Amino acid sequence: MEEASGGKTVKPVKPVKPNMKAHKCAALENGDGVSHREAVAVTLIPGDGIGPEVMAAAVKVIEESGVRIKWDTQEAGAAALKRYDDPVPAALISSLRRTRIALKGPLETRVATGFRSINVYLRKTFDLYANLRPTRSLPGVETPFRNVDLIVVRENTEDLYAGIEHQVTPGVVESVKIITARASTRIARFAFEYARRNQRKSVTAVHKANIMKLSDGLFLKCARRVAGDYKDIEYREQIVDAACMKLVTAPSSFDVLLLENLYGDIVSDLCAGLVGGLGLVPGANYGEHGAIFEAVHGTAPDIAGRNCANPIAAILSGAMLVEYLGHPQVAERIRTAVQRALRSGRAKTPDLGGKATTTQMTEVILEELKQAA
Ligand code: NAD
Repeated sequence: MEEASGGKTVKPVKPVKPNMKAHKCAALENGDGVSHREAVAVTLIPGDGIGPEVMAAAVKVIEESGVRIKWDTQEAGAAALKRYDDPVPAALISSLRRTRIALKGPLETRVATGFRSINVYLRKTFDLYANLRPTRSLPGVETPFRNVDLIVVRENTEDLYAGIEHQVTPGVVESVKIITARASTRIARFAFEYARRNQRKSVTAVHKANIMKLSDGLFLKCARRVAGDYKDIEYREQIVDAACMKLVTAPSSFDVLLLENLYGDIVSDLCAGLVGGLGLVPGANYGEHGAIFEAVHGTAPDIAGRNCANPIAAILSGAMLVEYLGHPQVAERIRTAVQRALRSGRAKTPDLGGKATTTQMTEVILEELKQAA
């Protein structure tokens, strides 16, 4: 889970008018396999903490898969602050403006101090309004529940993450929760479209509209209106606290979860716990004109630099990128390689109860991928 933006403001960036022609072509023409055409340019942000370790694994796997990508490596966050005295260097922004796609490692955001969250900043700047976090049980990972299959759809641009905070008087501060009909409607539409395209049965809007009658009430009103256009998908509503209890006792009673920004952030970590931890859950931030792919987890400072982080969340985020580039079958091959590696039990990182290093686990996944080729 991340903190909301706050503290020092970073330089404003003009909204982008992107050119997605190349991406659209890739998606249309290369649906069945690996492209033999020109490599697609993708911004690679190694990130902070365990970021460089797990991102190296994801890049190796994508390269082994045969998908041709021209990586443009850029620093951000604490790493960029150290090197360039700027957590969002101009080179990063111009790379993102050019490529419109990034594979990103986690970025550090200090608690209650320091520069604002660069994650929040990038999502807002490039209007990456939909955060998709597919959370599924994996073979060989011991958890209380089997067959968890939850899709978290989180609104990414507003709510308390707007970062509007001020001190009213010493000892009294105010954080403003922004909910708009526009953002609520488009995230609801994203959730229902995803559900329809992926043969999902229901969408549950998670809220606290019993208390926040105006803000969460508006979110629900928009979700209900959109639900009316998707009669083939069951629409449900649940108050966030009750939803959390239900998720940890009967996760299979949910399918697609539709949430505002803060609830989405918290609930996705809860869901990650259900399938074996943050080392396993991928994610993507989608906008109309681009996307940033990143795992749910953060920089994991407690294990950074020790070559023991689980690379699977980063690798599966890489698979989502590969799919976005128009290679769904290659993405499936990567997912299958991860499943086979886990099922074999040949290498498990400490978070999964094993002793393998990040490198060893990646090697096993690469071997499985080679065999599946
Ligand atoms: P975290 O996700 O970094 O770590 C929580 C726990 O999960 C830790 O015990 C960690 O060791 C473990 N963990 C996480 N990823 C793992 C992996 N791949 N393999 C094995 N174990 C893993 O959350 P946190 O400690 O609350 O946050 C640390 C920093 O990360 C903060 O600065 C926060 O702002 C930042 N953060 C960034 C992002 C992002 O860039 N998208 C997301 C969340 C948190």
